[in-house]
Amino acid sequence: VTTKTTEIIEQTNKFGANNYHPLPIVIAKAEGVWVESPEGNRYMDMLSAYSAVNQGHRHPKIIQALKDQADKVTLTSRAFHNDQLGPWYEKICKLTNKDMALPMNTGAEAVETALKAARRWGYDVKGIAENQAEIIACTGNFHGRTMGAVSLSSDPEYKRGFGPMLPGIKLIPYGDLEALTAAITPNTAAFLMEPIQGEAGILLPPEGFLKQASELCKQNNVLFIADEIQVGLARTGKMFACDWEDVEPDMLILGKALGGGVFPISCVVANSDVLGVFNPGSHGSTFGGNPLACAVSLAALDVIEEEHLAERSLDLGKYFLDQLKAISNPIIKEIRGKGLFIGVELTEEARSYCEQLKEAGLLCKETHDTVIRFAPPLIITKQEIDWAIEKIQTVLS
Ligand code: PLP
Repeated sequence: VTTKTTEIIEQTNKFGANNYHPLPIVIAKAEGVWVESPEGNRYMDMLSAYSAVNQGHRHPKIIQALKDQADKVTLTSRAFHNDQLGPWYEKICKLTNKDMALPMNTGAEAVETALKAARRWGYDVKGIAENQAEIIACTGNFHGRTMGAVSLSSDPEYKRGFGPMLPGIKLIPYGDLEALTAAITPNTAAFLMEPIQGEAGILLPPEGFLKQASELCKQNNVLFIADEIQVGLARTGKMFACDWEDVEPDMLILGKALGGGVFPISCVVANSDVLGVFNPGSHGSTFGGNPLACAVSLAALDVIEEEHLAERSLDLGKYFLDQLKAISNPIIKEIRGKGLFIGVELTEEARSYCEQLKEAGLLCKETHDTVIRFAPPLIITKQEIDWAIEKIQTVLS
């Protein structure tokens, strides 16, 4: 039978480039942790648009900020000042305890910004010889889909047919301090890592690694850059995942929930000795720092603080994790996570389980074949988690 859902999926498949493999569900409406198909079927969102909807779908305060700002001014370009950017700068700098911020739009653009800043810092501040700067990243990383970001990747499928890649990149196994020590040379400008690897399947580095790596970087005059696009802004039970080890990265990359799932905004924050390397003409973006994004982001950050989303994620994440660990089934290989950022690794492909969970009313997406990621909006209630656990039990038991 033809339904609105099948119609939309057919249209999407006919006219869209084939660069995604979504579950066969169309979302036409959303509120809080719930989404709805055109036919009115309701599902709980356990993905949160890869952590972009930490504040919940269409949070009233964020939507209000969007509407209010839409009635005033939406875009000025950076050829002129706008009255939202200044307040946003101050807010993000105070939140991260850094001197300066540089706004972009998407996560990958912020990663590009960090790579450019690190290289220029390498030349202008550290004194690396021209075109010799090296960046160290980790195997299994995901930093986005631009040429710079895929050049960092260890996944051949992310790179196939897109060469030549950016030179000056070295990879070490994720969480391997010895390998990091060995990889650093006088030409190393920066070490870039995700404090928890999201797309790789919710992989946590060995305890103490963040601290040790950041100290090693300091000793060697290497910038420690944390990509907190997916794990930052309360997702793991702390405001930033680096807070788990009291690490203050030299550069912090944010995106996703920075716009509350309402409007794209990303940024890099750092102190002026690092981000001060940019001068007029060296970097920018037409939409970067636009007043609509800044107004939305100010509200999105307020919601994280006012609703104590980090604490909620910590408490409810622990509860969720304990409940999941009580499910016994030999196909479950490992359950791991921090806060409401949880991966269930199976001994077999996870896709069919995600399809079954969808039938049960729970939207999850497999990552790296065998891992089911559970990352609901952080405004989820305990009752809603109990509802989810019941469904997960039925499918996984
Ligand atoms: N970095 C990390 C850690 C991410 O998880 C993502 C997206 O999933 C990105 C960068 C890229 O962000 P965007 O898709 O907004 O370009």
